Amino acid sequence: MAETPRTTPRTVRLHERDNVAVVVNEGGLAAGTALPGGPVLVEKVPQAHKVALVDLPAGTPVLRYGVEIGRTLADLPAGSWVHERRLAMPDARGLEGLPRATRRAPALPPLEGYTFEGYRNADGSVGTRNLLGITTTVQCVAGVLDVAVQRIREQLLPKYPNVDGVVALEHAYGCGVAIDAPGAEIPIRTLRHIAQNPNFGGEVMVVSLGCEKLQPERLMPPGSIPIGGPSGGVMGHVCLQDGAHVGFMSMIDDIVATAERHLQRLNARRRVTVPASELVVGVQCGGSDAFSGITANPAVGFASDLLVRAGASVMFSETTEVRDAVEQLTARAATPGLAQRIVDEMAWYDGYLQKGGVDRSANTTPGNKAGGLSNIVEKAMGSIIKSGTAPISGVISPGERLAGKGLTYAATPASDFICGTLQLAAGMNLHVFTTGRGTPYGLAACPVLKVATRTELARRWHDLMDLNAGRIADGEATIESLGWELFHLLLAVASGQRTWAEHWKLHNALVLFNPAPVT
Ligand code: CA
Repeated sequence: MAETPRTTPRTVRLHERDNVAVVVNEGGLAAGTALPGGPVLVEKVPQAHKVALVDLPAGTPVLRYGVEIGRTLADLPAGSWVHERRLAMPDARGLEGLPRATRRAPALPPLEGYTFEGYRNADGSVGTRNLLGITTTVQCVAGVLDVAVQRIREQLLPKYPNVDGVVALEHAYGCGVAIDAPGAEIPIRTLRHIAQNPNFGGEVMVVSLGCEKLQPERLMPPGSIPIGGPSGGVMGHVCLQDGAHVGFMSMIDDIVATAERHLQRLNARRRVTVPASELVVGVQCGGSDAFSGITANPAVGFASDLLVRAGASVMFSETTEVRDAVEQLTARAATPGLAQRIVDEMAWYDGYLQKGGVDRSANTTPGNKAGGLSNIVEKAMGSIIKSGTAPISGVISPGERLAGKGLTYAATPASDFICGTLQLAAGMNLHVFTTGRGTPYGLAACPVLKVATRTELARRWHDLMDLNAGRIADGEATIESLGWELFHLLLAVASGQRTWAEHWKLHNALVLFNPAPVT
């Protein structure tokens, strides 16, 4: 594979049962191209799209990853382009009779001796960045907080060089919502747990309006701030409707003065050497293409296994993107009880989608399809590979905090921003994001390391992509070598090395998952 020049036709077939392969060549392959040891293309097949390796009469199951991703709607001779309009999607696997904790994979050998430089917190967690997070009870205060944060950046941060930045935790929740409706606990606990993210050092500061439904004591109840730290469990609080505020500038002065007390304590912190087991890595994909499941996601899966072996926490999410692989998940659950938790999360989400009159097929985007992904089944099989091979030793619901080390299924919607927001709430201190179509995604609260699935994207977006997994398809790296590269890069970024998103200060908004009604 490594010696093959790029001009020869190249395809990837992932499983010996597969009757299709994916075209690797940039620009695709023209009609009449003879695949080495395979058929002659009867039509042009674009890059990342599938070619039929054998004749596929109408109704034939099309196999990728050794799994049926659909059935042909018409006769497709060998060498045909197999795309989403030529496939009927299989129904979702029912949630009954699933295998539970049946895989019993041998325990992965421990990986010892790997460390990074992080900020140890009073509650035992470790930050990869030293940030002041200022949370909010309601969107009403966002404009005022933005003005104050600009002043904090200009006037205060130069005095506190050990602080990496200040992050306004703004959102659309807090008022005009049915705050006691079933499901409302999800956005509320999400906000609370984000304020407790390890990258905020146990310092909690809240800006509230005064009349909103989500009052500060409901957002951060007593006991939600670690008392062992320098803040002594005391929350900084500025209420804009406070009678002491006369005019706009007094609000700004109050926020800036409160922020300075937190900055003084954060500035006294120093990085210390900690074991790699303190990493809490959230993995996610967005703008996926057919290469996601061949290059970037398998490399992330390999790195995920290394992290689990090193004792770290890894979480994977995106319920609609793993729903079609539910059988693999329940089989990989460490216990039957965890398998049941997975089933419960899937059932809840099936019901949630049903209420909206859709199902998991609403997930795939025009970009996914242009990128060669025919449907959600094919996308899911490529997505699940990010989770590696470790047993699933934890399951959490949206907005909950991680409870233990190892591999956790953190149930979240697949929306990049909602998933990232919920992984922050779970306690993520490092984020890995794979993309094939390309997205400039970033988060203010946590470094996001972006992995490109294709060399062409990595070349064009050379100052946005942190790692090029396209080298696997090019024959210049292996899943294993790239997985190790990612593992070492994660330790370097955790220790302070900046990602491209941090370099350019790119970050997306927090987006809460609120399944409850607004009023
Ligand atoms: Ca996503």
